[in-house]
Amino acid sequence: MKNLFLLFLLLGLGWSSAAQKNDGISYDRYFTGETMRVDYFHTGTATEEHFSIDRILNDGSWAGSKTMLKDELNRGLYFFSITDTISGTLLYSRGFASVFGEWQTIPEAAENWGTFHESLRFPWPKLPVKLVIEKRDAKNNFVAIWSTVIDPESRIVNPSLLKSPYTSFSYFENGSPNNHVDIVILGDGYTEAEMPKFHKDVAMLTDELFTVEPFRSRKSDFNVRAVETPSVTSGVNKPHPGVFNRTPLSMSYGAFDSERYALTYDNRTIRDVAATVPYDYMFILINERTYGGGGIFNLYSTVAADNKFSRYIFVHEFGHSFAALADEYYTSDVSYQAPEITVEPWEPNVTALFDPANLKWKELVKPGTPIPTPWGKEEFDTYSFGIQKERRALRAANVAETEMENLFEREKKTSQEMFDKNKYRDATGAFEGGNYMQFGIYRSALDCIMFTRNKQAFCPACSRAISQVIELYSR
Ligand SMILES: [Zn+2]
Repeated sequence: MKNLFLLFLLLGLGWSSAAQKNDGISYDRYFTGETMRVDYFHTGTATEEHFSIDRILNDGSWAGSKTMLKDELNRGLYFFSITDTISGTLLYSRGFASVFGEWQTIPEAAENWGTFHESLRFPWPKLPVKLVIEKRDAKNNFVAIWSTVIDPESRIVNPSLLKSPYTSFSYFENGSPNNHVDIVILGDGYTEAEMPKFHKDVAMLTDELFTVEPFRSRKSDFNVRAVETPSVTSGVNKPHPGVFNRTPLSMSYGAFDSERYALTYDNRTIRDVAATVPYDYMFILINERTYGGGGIFNLYSTVAADNKFSRYIFVHEFGHSFAALADEYYTSDVSYQAPEITVEPWEPNVTALFDPANLKWKELVKPGTPIPTPWGKEEFDTYSFGIQKERRALRAANVAETEMENLFEREKKTSQEMFDKNKYRDATGAFEGGNYMQFGIYRSALDCIMFTRNKQAFCPACSRAISQVIELYSR
Protein backbone atom coordinates (compact mmCIF):
# COMPACT_ATOMS: atom_id res chain seq x y z
CA MET A 1 0.00 0.00 0.00
CA LYS A 2 2.81 2.34 0.95
CA ASN A 3 4.79 1.47 -2.19
CA LEU A 4 1.74 2.09 -4.27
CA PHE A 5 1.35 5.53 -2.79
CA LEU A 6 5.00 6.24 -3.57
CA LEU A 7 4.43 5.12 -7.15
CA PHE A 8 1.53 7.55 -7.52
CA LEU A 9 3.64 10.28 -6.00
CA LEU A 10 6.48 9.65 -8.45
CA LEU A 11 4.12 9.52 -11.43
CA GLY A 12 2.63 12.79 -10.27
CA LEU A 13 6.02 14.43 -9.84
CA GLY A 14 7.25 13.13 -13.19
CA TRP A 15 4.29 14.70 -14.91
CA SER A 16 4.52 18.04 -13.19
CA SER A 17 8.25 18.53 -13.77
CA ALA A 18 7.69 17.85 -17.48
CA ALA A 19 4.94 20.46 -17.47
CA GLN A 20 7.15 23.02 -15.76
CA LYS A 21 9.56 23.13 -18.66
CA ASN A 22 9.36 26.15 -20.88
CA ASP A 23 8.03 24.87 -24.19
CA GLY A 24 10.98 26.28 -26.10
CA ILE A 25 9.36 29.23 -27.86
CA SER A 26 10.93 32.62 -27.12
CA TYR A 27 7.92 34.79 -26.35
CA ASP A 28 9.76 38.10 -26.65
CA ARG A 29 11.26 37.21 -30.00
CA TYR A 30 7.90 36.60 -31.64
CA PHE A 31 5.30 38.53 -29.65
CA THR A 32 4.53 41.95 -28.14
CA GLY A 33 2.76 42.14 -24.78
CA GLU A 34 -0.68 42.55 -26.30
CA THR A 35 -3.50 40.27 -27.45
CA MET A 36 -4.57 39.82 -31.04
CA ARG A 37 -8.23 38.91 -31.45
CA VAL A 38 -9.47 37.48 -34.74
CA ASP A 39 -13.26 37.75 -35.05
CA TYR A 40 -14.80 35.59 -37.76
CA PHE A 41 -18.07 34.10 -38.95
CA HIS A 42 -18.36 30.31 -38.80
CA THR A 43 -21.03 29.28 -41.28
CA GLY A 44 -22.36 25.99 -42.57
CA THR A 45 -24.74 23.07 -42.39
CA ALA A 46 -24.54 19.58 -40.85
CA THR A 47 -22.05 18.55 -43.52
CA GLU A 48 -20.00 21.64 -44.41
CA GLU A 49 -18.47 24.68 -42.76
CA HIS A 50 -16.82 27.91 -43.88
CA PHE A 51 -14.92 30.75 -42.25
CA SER A 52 -14.82 34.46 -43.07
CA ILE A 53 -12.96 37.16 -41.16
CA ASP A 54 -14.99 39.89 -39.51
CA ARG A 55 -12.20 41.99 -37.98
CA ILE A 56 -8.79 41.70 -36.36
CA LEU A 57 -8.16 43.90 -33.37
CA ASN A 58 -6.23 44.60 -30.19
CA ASP A 59 -7.89 42.89 -27.21
CA GLY A 60 -5.70 44.45 -24.50
CA SER A 61 -2.61 43.19 -22.71
CA TRP A 62 -1.77 39.46 -22.94
CA ALA A 63 -3.16 37.56 -19.94
CA GLY A 64 -1.99 34.07 -20.92
CA SER A 65 1.30 32.38 -20.09
CA LYS A 66 4.47 33.51 -21.83
CA THR A 67 6.08 30.10 -21.35
CA MET A 68 3.26 27.60 -21.97
CA LEU A 69 2.45 28.61 -25.53
CA LYS A 70 1.79 25.16 -26.99
CA ASP A 71 -1.29 23.18 -26.01
CA GLU A 72 -0.52 19.47 -26.00
CA LEU A 73 -3.60 18.35 -24.05
CA ASN A 74 -5.51 17.23 -27.16
CA ARG A 75 -8.87 18.65 -26.01
CA GLY A 76 -11.77 20.18 -27.91
CA LEU A 77 -13.57 19.60 -31.20
CA TYR A 78 -11.42 22.32 -32.81
CA PHE A 79 -7.79 23.37 -32.52
CA PHE A 80 -5.98 26.47 -33.76
CA SER A 81 -2.33 27.20 -34.26
CA ILE A 82 -0.17 30.21 -35.08
CA THR A 83 3.06 29.61 -37.00
CA ASP A 84 5.84 31.91 -38.16
CA THR A 85 5.45 32.31 -41.95
CA ILE A 86 9.23 32.42 -42.55
CA SER A 87 10.54 29.51 -40.44
CA GLY A 88 7.30 27.54 -40.10
CA THR A 89 7.88 27.44 -36.31
CA LEU A 90 4.79 26.71 -34.24
CA LEU A 91 4.36 29.73 -31.95
CA TYR A 92 1.04 29.23 -30.17
CA SER A 93 -1.83 26.71 -30.11
CA ARG A 94 -5.01 25.97 -28.22
CA GLY A 95 -7.87 23.46 -28.40
CA PHE A 96 -11.39 24.90 -28.29
CA ALA A 97 -15.06 24.20 -28.92
CA SER A 98 -17.78 26.40 -30.37
CA VAL A 99 -21.52 26.97 -30.50
CA PHE A 100 -21.33 26.13 -34.23
CA GLY A 101 -19.75 22.73 -33.45
CA GLU A 102 -22.66 21.84 -31.16
CA TRP A 103 -25.28 23.32 -33.48
CA GLN A 104 -23.99 21.11 -36.32
CA THR A 105 -25.19 18.00 -34.43
CA ILE A 106 -28.84 19.05 -33.98
CA PRO A 107 -31.56 18.22 -36.57
CA GLU A 108 -31.93 21.89 -37.62
CA ALA A 109 -28.44 21.80 -39.18
CA ALA A 110 -29.56 19.09 -41.61
CA GLU A 111 -32.12 21.49 -43.10
CA ASN A 112 -30.84 25.03 -42.59
CA TRP A 113 -27.67 27.09 -42.78
CA GLY A 114 -26.33 28.59 -39.59
CA THR A 115 -23.85 31.42 -38.92
CA PHE A 116 -22.12 31.96 -35.59
CA HIS A 117 -19.66 34.66 -34.61
CA GLU A 118 -16.45 33.41 -32.95
CA SER A 119 -13.10 34.78 -31.78
CA LEU A 120 -9.58 33.42 -31.46
CA ARG A 121 -7.16 35.18 -29.11
CA PHE A 122 -3.37 34.82 -29.06
CA PRO A 123 -0.35 36.99 -28.28
CA TRP A 124 0.15 39.86 -30.79
CA PRO A 125 2.74 38.69 -33.34
CA LYS A 126 5.63 40.96 -34.38
CA LEU A 127 5.77 39.48 -37.91
CA PRO A 128 3.25 37.85 -40.31
CA VAL A 129 1.84 34.56 -39.02
CA LYS A 130 -0.23 31.74 -40.45
CA LEU A 131 -3.44 30.93 -38.56
CA VAL A 132 -4.73 27.37 -39.07
CA ILE A 133 -8.01 25.95 -37.73
CA GLU A 134 -8.23 22.18 -37.41
CA LYS A 135 -11.18 19.94 -36.62
CA ARG A 136 -11.56 16.31 -35.51
CA ASP A 137 -12.15 13.81 -38.30
CA ALA A 138 -14.24 10.62 -37.92
CA LYS A 139 -11.34 9.00 -36.04
CA ASN A 140 -10.94 12.02 -33.74
CA ASN A 141 -7.67 13.13 -35.34
CA PHE A 142 -7.25 16.87 -36.02
CA VAL A 143 -7.17 17.87 -39.70
CA ALA A 144 -6.77 21.42 -41.07
CA ILE A 145 -10.03 22.90 -42.38
CA TRP A 146 -9.10 26.57 -42.83
CA SER A 147 -6.06 28.80 -42.84
CA THR A 148 -5.15 32.42 -43.47
CA VAL A 149 -2.06 34.63 -43.20
CA ILE A 150 -2.20 37.62 -40.86
CA ASP A 151 0.24 40.49 -41.32
CA PRO A 152 0.13 42.65 -38.16
CA GLU A 153 1.22 45.67 -40.27
CA SER A 154 -1.71 45.28 -42.67
CA ARG A 155 -4.45 47.92 -42.86
CA ILE A 156 -7.10 45.26 -42.06
CA VAL A 157 -5.50 44.78 -38.64
CA ASN A 158 -6.61 47.39 -36.11
CA PRO A 159 -3.94 47.92 -33.41
CA SER A 160 -5.87 50.69 -31.64
CA LEU A 161 -5.61 50.30 -27.88
CA LEU A 162 -8.73 49.05 -26.18
CA LYS A 163 -10.58 51.68 -24.15
CA SER A 164 -13.44 49.90 -22.45
CA PRO A 165 -16.47 51.93 -21.35
CA TYR A 166 -17.49 49.27 -18.79
CA THR A 167 -17.02 49.33 -15.02
CA SER A 168 -15.04 46.39 -13.66
CA PHE A 169 -13.97 45.17 -10.25
CA SER A 170 -11.54 42.66 -8.87
CA TYR A 171 -12.88 39.91 -6.58
CA PHE A 172 -9.41 38.67 -5.72
CA GLU A 173 -5.99 38.93 -7.32
CA ASN A 174 -2.95 36.84 -6.54
CA GLY A 175 -0.43 38.13 -9.07
CA SER A 176 0.52 38.80 -12.69
CA PRO A 177 -2.01 37.71 -15.34
CA ASN A 178 0.86 36.00 -17.21
CA ASN A 179 1.41 33.31 -14.59
CA HIS A 180 -2.08 33.11 -13.09
CA VAL A 181 -5.36 31.75 -14.41
CA ASP A 182 -7.51 34.84 -15.03
CA ILE A 183 -11.27 34.37 -14.77
CA VAL A 184 -13.62 37.15 -15.87
CA ILE A 185 -17.24 37.06 -14.68
CA LEU A 186 -19.95 38.89 -16.62
CA GLY A 187 -23.59 39.27 -15.61
CA ASP A 188 -26.76 39.60 -17.67
CA GLY A 189 -30.30 40.60 -16.65
CA TYR A 190 -29.08 42.63 -13.65
CA THR A 191 -30.44 46.19 -13.53
CA GLU A 192 -28.40 49.12 -12.24
CA ALA A 193 -30.25 48.79 -8.91
CA GLU A 194 -29.34 45.08 -8.81
CA MET A 195 -25.58 45.64 -9.16
CA PRO A 196 -25.00 44.94 -5.43
CA LYS A 197 -26.72 41.59 -6.05
CA PHE A 198 -24.36 40.93 -8.98
CA HIS A 199 -21.39 41.56 -6.66
CA LYS A 200 -22.92 39.20 -4.10
CA ASP A 201 -23.54 36.49 -6.73
CA VAL A 202 -19.94 36.80 -7.98
CA ALA A 203 -18.72 36.27 -4.40
CA MET A 204 -21.07 33.37 -3.64
CA LEU A 205 -20.27 31.39 -6.80
CA THR A 206 -16.54 32.12 -6.87
CA ASP A 207 -16.29 31.04 -3.22
CA GLU A 208 -18.11 27.83 -4.09
CA LEU A 209 -15.70 26.99 -6.94
CA PHE A 210 -12.75 27.32 -4.58
CA THR A 211 -14.23 24.89 -2.05
CA VAL A 212 -13.89 22.13 -4.67
CA GLU A 213 -10.63 20.32 -5.46
CA PRO A 214 -8.40 20.82 -7.34
CA PHE A 215 -9.44 24.51 -7.46
CA ARG A 216 -9.28 24.71 -3.66
CA SER A 217 -5.60 23.79 -3.40
CA ARG A 218 -4.68 25.95 -6.38
CA LYS A 219 -6.59 29.10 -5.43
CA SER A 220 -3.40 31.18 -5.23
CA ASP A 221 -2.86 30.47 -8.96
CA PHE A 222 -6.05 32.35 -9.87
CA ASN A 223 -7.25 35.93 -10.32
CA VAL A 224 -10.99 36.64 -10.47
CA ARG A 225 -12.40 39.89 -11.88
CA ALA A 226 -15.87 40.94 -12.99
CA VAL A 227 -17.42 43.44 -15.41
CA GLU A 228 -20.78 45.20 -14.96
CA THR A 229 -23.28 45.48 -17.84
CA PRO A 230 -26.51 46.74 -16.25
CA SER A 231 -29.70 46.05 -18.19
CA VAL A 232 -32.91 48.08 -18.29
CA THR A 233 -35.15 45.20 -17.22
CA SER A 234 -34.46 42.44 -14.71
CA GLY A 235 -34.02 38.87 -16.03
CA VAL A 236 -33.13 37.46 -19.45
CA ASN A 237 -34.92 35.93 -22.44
CA LYS A 238 -36.93 32.74 -21.71
CA PRO A 239 -38.79 31.73 -24.87
CA HIS A 240 -40.24 28.41 -23.58
CA PRO A 241 -42.48 29.97 -20.91
CA GLY A 242 -43.07 32.96 -23.25
CA VAL A 243 -40.99 35.51 -21.29
CA PHE A 244 -39.19 37.69 -23.83
CA ASN A 245 -36.42 40.14 -22.92
CA ARG A 246 -33.59 42.01 -24.60
CA THR A 247 -30.47 42.45 -22.46
CA PRO A 248 -26.93 43.80 -23.05
CA LEU A 249 -25.32 40.35 -23.45
CA SER A 250 -28.36 38.71 -25.18
CA MET A 251 -28.34 35.71 -22.84
CA SER A 252 -31.23 33.37 -23.60
CA TYR A 253 -32.60 30.09 -22.35
CA GLY A 254 -33.84 27.63 -24.96
CA ALA A 255 -30.61 27.30 -26.95
CA PHE A 256 -31.06 24.52 -29.54
CA ASP A 257 -34.67 24.45 -28.29
CA SER A 258 -33.54 22.91 -24.99
CA GLU A 259 -35.39 24.72 -22.22
CA ARG A 260 -32.60 24.73 -19.63
CA TYR A 261 -29.70 25.39 -22.04
CA ALA A 262 -28.74 29.06 -21.65
CA LEU A 263 -26.29 30.65 -24.10
CA THR A 264 -25.62 33.94 -25.82
CA TYR A 265 -24.80 34.11 -29.53
CA ASP A 266 -23.64 37.74 -29.31
CA ASN A 267 -19.96 36.85 -29.27
CA ARG A 268 -18.83 40.32 -30.47
CA THR A 269 -20.40 42.02 -27.46
CA ILE A 270 -19.33 39.54 -24.80
CA ARG A 271 -15.75 39.61 -26.10
CA ASP A 272 -15.70 43.42 -26.00
CA VAL A 273 -17.07 43.38 -22.45
CA ALA A 274 -14.75 40.61 -21.22
CA ALA A 275 -11.67 42.40 -22.60
CA THR A 276 -12.24 45.19 -20.06
CA VAL A 277 -9.95 43.10 -17.82
CA PRO A 278 -7.21 40.56 -18.58
CA TYR A 279 -8.79 37.10 -18.93
CA ASP A 280 -8.19 33.47 -19.91
CA TYR A 281 -11.64 32.07 -19.00
CA MET A 282 -15.09 33.67 -19.02
CA PHE A 283 -18.17 33.01 -16.90
CA ILE A 284 -21.59 34.66 -17.41
CA LEU A 285 -24.06 34.86 -14.51
CA ILE A 286 -27.74 35.05 -15.37
CA ASN A 287 -30.00 36.96 -13.00
CA GLU A 288 -32.71 34.26 -12.97
CA ARG A 289 -34.12 31.55 -10.77
CA THR A 290 -35.03 29.11 -13.58
CA TYR A 291 -32.62 26.17 -13.57
CA GLY A 292 -30.16 26.52 -16.41
CA GLY A 293 -26.69 27.07 -17.75
CA GLY A 294 -24.20 25.89 -20.32
CA GLY A 295 -20.48 25.48 -20.84
CA ILE A 296 -18.41 25.41 -24.03
CA PHE A 297 -14.71 24.62 -23.88
CA ASN A 298 -12.53 27.73 -24.06
CA LEU A 299 -15.53 29.98 -24.84
CA TYR A 300 -17.60 30.57 -21.70
CA SER A 301 -19.89 28.96 -19.15
CA THR A 302 -23.22 30.30 -17.91
CA VAL A 303 -25.43 29.75 -14.86
CA ALA A 304 -28.73 31.00 -13.46
CA ALA A 305 -27.62 32.59 -10.19
CA ASP A 306 -30.76 32.19 -8.05
CA ASN A 307 -31.64 28.53 -8.46
CA LYS A 308 -31.35 26.17 -5.52
CA PHE A 309 -28.69 24.29 -7.51
CA SER A 310 -26.79 27.34 -8.83
CA ARG A 311 -23.62 26.58 -6.89
CA TYR A 312 -23.56 23.06 -8.26
CA ILE A 313 -24.31 24.13 -11.86
CA PHE A 314 -21.63 26.83 -11.70
CA VAL A 315 -18.91 24.28 -10.90
CA HIS A 316 -20.31 21.69 -13.35
CA GLU A 317 -20.43 24.13 -16.28
CA PHE A 318 -17.00 25.49 -15.43
CA GLY A 319 -15.77 21.88 -15.76
CA HIS A 320 -16.95 21.94 -19.40
CA SER A 321 -15.54 25.33 -20.33
CA PHE A 322 -12.28 25.12 -18.37
CA ALA A 323 -11.11 21.55 -18.97
CA ALA A 324 -13.32 20.22 -21.79
CA LEU A 325 -14.90 17.65 -19.48
CA ALA A 326 -17.68 15.52 -20.95
CA ASP A 327 -21.02 15.20 -19.22
CA GLU A 328 -21.01 11.92 -17.33
CA TYR A 329 -24.81 11.70 -17.13
CA TYR A 330 -26.94 9.91 -19.68
CA THR A 331 -30.54 9.57 -18.45
CA SER A 332 -31.77 13.14 -19.09
CA ASP A 333 -32.95 14.55 -22.42
CA VAL A 334 -30.34 16.39 -24.43
CA SER A 335 -30.45 17.96 -27.87
CA TYR A 336 -27.62 15.93 -29.32
CA GLN A 337 -28.04 12.99 -31.64
CA ALA A 338 -25.89 10.28 -30.06
CA PRO A 339 -23.62 8.63 -32.62
CA GLU A 340 -22.73 4.95 -32.61
CA ILE A 341 -19.55 4.41 -30.57
CA THR A 342 -16.78 3.48 -32.99
CA VAL A 343 -13.92 5.67 -31.76
CA GLU A 344 -12.46 6.50 -28.38
CA PRO A 345 -13.91 9.83 -27.15
CA TRP A 346 -11.25 12.55 -26.84
CA GLU A 347 -12.65 13.94 -23.58
CA PRO A 348 -10.37 13.17 -20.60
CA ASN A 349 -13.12 11.81 -18.30
CA VAL A 350 -14.92 9.25 -20.50
CA THR A 351 -13.73 6.18 -22.38
CA ALA A 352 -15.19 3.59 -24.75
CA LEU A 353 -12.94 1.03 -23.00
CA PHE A 354 -11.82 -0.65 -26.24
CA ASP A 355 -8.66 -1.75 -24.42
CA PRO A 356 -9.34 -2.33 -20.69
CA ALA A 357 -5.64 -3.01 -20.03
CA ASN A 358 -4.84 0.51 -21.21
CA LEU A 359 -7.61 2.41 -19.48
CA LYS A 360 -7.28 6.17 -20.10
CA TRP A 361 -6.72 6.87 -16.39
CA LYS A 362 -5.02 3.56 -15.49
CA GLU A 363 -2.34 5.34 -13.37
CA LEU A 364 -5.15 6.32 -10.99
CA VAL A 365 -6.59 2.79 -10.55
CA LYS A 366 -5.67 0.58 -7.57
CA PRO A 367 -4.69 -3.01 -8.51
CA GLY A 368 -7.51 -5.47 -7.92
CA THR A 369 -10.29 -3.08 -9.00
CA PRO A 370 -12.52 -4.90 -11.50
CA ILE A 371 -12.65 -3.25 -14.96
CA PRO A 372 -15.43 -2.60 -15.86
CA THR A 373 -16.46 -1.84 -12.28
CA PRO A 374 -19.87 -3.09 -11.05
CA TRP A 375 -21.99 -0.31 -9.56
CA GLY A 376 -25.68 -1.20 -9.33
CA LYS A 377 -26.36 0.39 -12.71
CA GLU A 378 -29.69 -1.35 -13.41
CA GLU A 379 -31.27 -0.10 -10.21
CA PHE A 380 -29.96 3.43 -10.80
CA ASP A 381 -31.12 3.50 -14.44
CA THR A 382 -34.66 2.39 -13.62
CA TYR A 383 -34.91 5.02 -10.90
CA SER A 384 -33.29 7.81 -12.90
CA PHE A 385 -35.35 7.29 -16.07
CA GLY A 386 -38.44 7.42 -13.83
CA ILE A 387 -37.33 10.79 -12.44
CA GLN A 388 -36.77 12.14 -15.96
CA LYS A 389 -40.33 11.14 -16.85
CA GLU A 390 -41.64 13.09 -13.85
CA ARG A 391 -39.42 16.02 -14.81
CA ARG A 392 -40.86 16.17 -18.34
CA ALA A 393 -44.39 16.07 -16.93
CA LEU A 394 -43.64 18.95 -14.52
CA ARG A 395 -42.10 21.05 -17.30
CA ALA A 396 -45.08 20.38 -19.55
CA ALA A 397 -47.39 21.52 -16.73
CA ASN A 398 -45.28 24.71 -16.36
CA VAL A 399 -45.11 24.30 -12.56
CA ALA A 400 -43.33 26.69 -10.18
CA GLU A 401 -39.54 26.32 -9.95
CA THR A 402 -39.91 25.10 -6.33
CA GLU A 403 -41.65 21.92 -7.51
CA MET A 404 -38.78 21.14 -9.88
CA GLU A 405 -36.27 21.82 -7.11
CA ASN A 406 -38.17 19.43 -4.81
CA LEU A 407 -37.97 16.71 -7.46
CA PHE A 408 -34.20 17.24 -7.79
CA GLU A 409 -33.82 17.08 -3.99
CA ARG A 410 -35.71 13.78 -3.88
CA GLU A 411 -33.57 12.40 -6.73
CA LYS A 412 -30.43 13.51 -4.91
CA LYS A 413 -31.41 11.81 -1.66
CA THR A 414 -32.46 8.48 -3.19
CA SER A 415 -29.51 8.17 -5.58
CA GLN A 416 -27.08 9.07 -2.79
CA GLU A 417 -28.53 6.22 -0.71
CA MET A 418 -27.99 3.84 -3.66
CA PHE A 419 -24.38 5.00 -4.04
CA ASP A 420 -23.60 4.85 -0.32
CA LYS A 421 -24.22 1.12 -0.14
CA ASN A 422 -22.01 0.40 -3.17
CA LYS A 423 -18.80 -1.50 -2.57
CA TYR A 424 -16.88 0.60 -5.10
CA ARG A 425 -18.25 4.00 -4.10
CA ASP A 426 -14.75 5.39 -3.44
CA ALA A 427 -12.88 3.41 -6.10
CA THR A 428 -11.34 4.62 -9.35
CA GLY A 429 -12.26 2.22 -12.15
CA ALA A 430 -14.51 2.10 -15.23
CA PHE A 431 -18.20 2.65 -14.46
CA GLU A 432 -20.54 2.15 -17.41
CA GLY A 433 -22.75 5.03 -18.58
CA GLY A 434 -21.72 8.56 -19.52
CA ASN A 435 -21.53 11.22 -22.24
CA TYR A 436 -25.31 10.78 -22.93
CA MET A 437 -24.78 7.05 -23.61
CA GLN A 438 -26.41 4.44 -21.39
CA PHE A 439 -24.09 1.71 -22.64
CA GLY A 440 -20.57 1.51 -24.07
CA ILE A 441 -19.11 4.63 -22.42
CA TYR A 442 -17.39 4.53 -19.02
CA ARG A 443 -16.48 7.08 -16.34
CA SER A 444 -13.70 6.92 -13.75
CA ALA A 445 -15.76 6.90 -10.54
CA LEU A 446 -19.20 6.09 -9.26
CA ASP A 447 -20.02 9.76 -8.78
CA CYS A 448 -18.73 13.12 -9.98
CA ILE A 449 -19.93 16.72 -10.42
CA MET A 450 -20.18 15.91 -14.12
CA PHE A 451 -22.60 13.02 -13.33
CA THR A 452 -25.06 13.90 -10.53
CA ARG A 453 -25.94 16.82 -8.27
CA ASN A 454 -25.16 14.67 -5.21
CA LYS A 455 -21.64 15.35 -4.12
CA GLN A 456 -19.64 18.52 -4.81
CA ALA A 457 -16.46 16.66 -5.88
CA PHE A 458 -14.79 15.88 -9.20
CA CYS A 459 -13.86 12.26 -10.00
CA PRO A 460 -10.12 11.47 -10.29
CA ALA A 461 -10.12 11.71 -14.13
CA CYS A 462 -11.82 15.13 -14.08
CA SER A 463 -9.62 16.37 -11.28
CA ARG A 464 -6.45 15.46 -13.16
CA ALA A 465 -7.76 17.07 -16.36
CA ILE A 466 -8.47 20.33 -14.49
CA SER A 467 -4.99 20.38 -12.89
CA GLN A 468 -3.41 20.02 -16.33
CA VAL A 469 -5.22 23.15 -17.58
CA ILE A 470 -4.21 25.12 -14.47
CA GLU A 471 -0.59 24.29 -15.40
CA LEU A 472 -1.08 25.78 -18.88
CA TYR A 473 -1.99 29.21 -17.48
CA SER A 474 -0.10 29.49 -14.21
CA ARG A 475 3.54 29.31 -15.37
ZN1 LIG B 1 -15.73 13.24 -13.54
